[in-house]
Amino acid sequence: MTNIEDKKMDKIVSLCKRRGFIFPSSQIYGGLANSWDFGPLGVELKNNIKSKWWEIFVQGRSDIVGIDSAIIMNSKVWEASGHLSGFSDPLIECKNCHRRFRADHLIGEDVWNREKDSIDVLNDDEKEKKVREIVGKCPNCGADALGSIRSFNLMFKTSLGPIDDEGSKVYLRPETAQGMFVNFKNVVGSSRKTLPFGIAQMGKAFRNEITPGNFIFRTREFEQMEIEYFIRPPKDDKEWQKVFEEWRVAMRNWTSLLGISDENLYEVDIPNEELAHYSKKTIDFEYKFPFGVKELYGLAYRTDFDLKSHQESSGENMRYRDPLTKEEFWPHVIEPSFGVERTIMAVLSEAYEEEDVSEGEKRILMKFPPWLAPIKIAILPLVRNNAELITKAKEIYEEVKKDFICDYDESGTIGRRYRRQDEIGTPFAVTIDFDTLDDDRVTIRERDTMKQERVKVVDLLNHIKEKIDG
Ligand code: ATP
Repeated sequence: MTNIEDKKMDKIVSLCKRRGFIFPSSQIYGGLANSWDFGPLGVELKNNIKSKWWEIFVQGRSDIVGIDSAIIMNSKVWEASGHLSGFSDPLIECKNCHRRFRADHLIGEDVWNREKDSIDVLNDDEKEKKVREIVGKCPNCGADALGSIRSFNLMFKTSLGPIDDEGSKVYLRPETAQGMFVNFKNVVGSSRKTLPFGIAQMGKAFRNEITPGNFIFRTREFEQMEIEYFIRPPKDDKEWQKVFEEWRVAMRNWTSLLGISDENLYEVDIPNEELAHYSKKTIDFEYKFPFGVKELYGLAYRTDFDLKSHQESSGENMRYRDPLTKEEFWPHVIEPSFGVERTIMAVLSEAYEEEDVSEGEKRILMKFPPWLAPIKIAILPLVRNNAELITKAKEIYEEVKKDFICDYDESGTIGRRYRRQDEIGTPFAVTIDFDTLDDDRVTIRERDTMKQERVKVVDLLNHIKEKIDG
């Protein structure tokens, strides 16, 4: 990472804390590593993302319905999905400093993917030797003490009820997807959807990551927004490829709505030998974060693996029955998967900008698209020591806040108040000055251009609505 990018990340983290987007969690007790809380502005940003996603992918489409399934499910769900046996990451621990690393990250993903099968068959001593051969010394303490590679299951365990024994063991879901598969028949039966159709859900997921980090990029508790899109078993590759392509485009439309520029987004076709066993094709959408190019979202063709596995394990018929032909089959699935925190991380990285406004003076601004900004409008009386001006400003504030989330601020110089709003990404600032009292007009200042325009108070709401809706 270059110094500038390194600094950018520090600046984003510090702005998030200073302005109330994201705080370190449990801070008064010394915090909890890699755990974060969303503050007043952060929660607005997060809710804007989630509600826009729901609006576009669920409410705006007649072929998708939503559900909200439980976080703790019957453990048999995770047996059937393969998570209990296979949802693990390879771990290397240093025998000297006891720092843990993900083997694929430490060894390098390319080398790991190439060598993994041959490493798998080695015994522990041989694995250790191989690790030291490829990696050398521990990057943390410098000792020649890296250990073997073992598999570490990422599922969070807890127990249900008062007795903590094998029978009460349950898991926090590591993904929202399975809630949609196990409810497939409930949804078909109740909503009478016919193929092709999708089920969507958003909510918390938990993974006991070996190496969480990079702020909110990789945490142990996070939110996902996922869709399982069910199609008829394709007659040929072209059939599923067409739907896959439609989803790829839908995901790109979503990223451009977020303001993510094409040059910072990469589509990586996962090579066949690295695909999950159930997937015939996966694209990772990678974003150029300040700490490197990393996965933002995924799009996978999962064949009919999921419904078939749940039928095999539960004994329930998970097939779809065609209402016309009465033919029964397992639908195939295309799965677009979005992480909420990674969306926020990408949006923060993309929106952060520093500008020289005049000699020696800088402004920091968050160039969120207006729909995404936590606060849409700041209402700013020019001075605070004039009762008439303050009354007028408060009147306008009361009116505008019926339609938009806005901030009222009368403290400090107008310049400083503009800077503060720039920093939290407020797209419009409305200033009430002495002329307002005579001509009933206010000044609207736009965040990105700093252009100022005078509009009539009666036209203010429509004027801003037009700008926000584009
Ligand atoms: P990675 O390779 O980064 O661990 P993954 O391929 O395991 O991610 P998926 O299982 O495809 O991730 O999960 C779908 C989405 O959920 C990811 O694209 C990402 O946006 C989000 N996600 C996954 N793990 C985390 C995490 N630990 N913290 C935050 N978001 C996550």
